[in-house]
Amino acid sequence: MKLTSSSAARRKKVVVVGAGIGGLTAAVALHRSGHEVLVFERARQLGEVGAGLQLGPNAVRIVEALGLGQELHRLTAEPTERVSLKWDTGELRVREPYKGVMRQRFGAPYLMAHRADLHHLLMRQLPDGCIHTGAECVEVVASPGSASARFADGSAVEADVVVGADGIHSMVRNSLFDPVRPRFTQQICWRVVLPMDAIRRAPALPVPLTGMEYTGWLGPTGHVLFYPLRGGELLNIFAGRVSSDWVGESWTVDSSVPEMLQAYAGWNDGMLEVLSQATNAYCWGIHDRDPLASWTKGRVTLLGDAAHPMMPTLAQGAAISMEDGACLARHLAAHDVDTALSLYESERRPRASRVQLQARQQFLNNQMTPPPPPLPTDWIYGHDAVSGTDFKATA
Ligand SMILES: Cc1cc2nc3c(=O)[nH]c(=O)nc-3n(C[C@H](O)[C@H](O)[C@H](O)COP(=O)(O)OP(=O)(O)OC[C@H]3O[C@@H](n4cnc5c(N)ncnc54)[C@H](O)[C@@H]3O)c2cc1C
Repeated sequence: MKLTSSSAARRKKVVVVGAGIGGLTAAVALHRSGHEVLVFERARQLGEVGAGLQLGPNAVRIVEALGLGQELHRLTAEPTERVSLKWDTGELRVREPYKGVMRQRFGAPYLMAHRADLHHLLMRQLPDGCIHTGAECVEVVASPGSASARFADGSAVEADVVVGADGIHSMVRNSLFDPVRPRFTQQICWRVVLPMDAIRRAPALPVPLTGMEYTGWLGPTGHVLFYPLRGGELLNIFAGRVSSDWVGESWTVDSSVPEMLQAYAGWNDGMLEVLSQATNAYCWGIHDRDPLASWTKGRVTLLGDAAHPMMPTLAQGAAISMEDGACLARHLAAHDVDTALSLYESERRPRASRVQLQARQQFLNNQMTPPPPPLPTDWIYGHDAVSGTDFKATA
């Protein structure tokens, strides 16, 4: 959405704290709609973890609306099929076409991205001087008619709106509302990226796989996903495990390949043949939070994991963060700041909270034997945050 000539829709100055996928999507959407945007990122160097990211149709639609669809398609992979296998025997539970089908059903495809590629694509859309690195925000102040952010080096910036897109440990959130520690969800995971050859080097795989499928091994103690990245050059593995232990305060620990394989002892041999080709392994402790009762105070609001950190069971955390950015840009383009922030929160909070809770429920359902059918996701995939409507497939 572009700014109109009305005074309500005048150009606004927006400060975004945090240059993750959520903050950058918001910054690009705001910049495209004509606002002045400044992004402040604590890290000295911009980047993302070297792992895959599933982009549901609701996320892809936003990238396409920003005019970046062609480039996104060039950088990602669209899985040919969805395959679901039993964790131990490898028995085929589901094999269904995916490529092309998701666009028909939801108006956009389901794509698999390398996080760094998407991050870089978004970053390149912002003008020079927009992103400030090595800028740790230490305080935000919401005053009537404006907001300001102060940084560790003592500098400060004032804006019409400050957006906290600073992730699950959000300083902005903690300074607006009572600080609550994130909850360990009893899920840990390993993330591995391998050359696609890894599939061909696993003769014990129970069903023929090319590696271009979106394959899930579902068991009562965890689930393992394989999917392609970069047009099929790479194979991404997400290995999630139910675990009551998580050590200390850290969010990721240096693990080892033998430790990861040990966690899947007794799982299908073919699956283990693929996993065993990893050369290193980090382990993440998955945390989330309860939905927040409010996201906004005065001219300061939240977005992405700062507002609604969720379990990765539905692969929607980044997608919902991207939706937040598209929605915020739409309302700021059409209304005065206070109205826009109020419309933003009332549109986003119920939806994001519902996805947060469904992600938790899906995690619990996955542990049942046999697992019940997956919870419905059409309401998630079909949403168009750019227009604020839902996609209607034509028969
Ligand atoms: C294992 C795993 C798998 C996942 N898989 C998927 C998936 O397939 N699909 C999907 O949609 N989602 C997935 N998610 C969720 C997704 O990764 C997150 O929801 C998403 O990355 C959140 O983006 P964000 O920009 O809100 O926060 P972040 O990516 O956390 O970015 C926050 C940024 O703010 C910066 N920052 C922090 N504090 C400050 C400060 N005080 N001052 C300045 N800057 C600061 C940080 O350095 C960081 O760059 C997964 C999550 C996990 C853990």
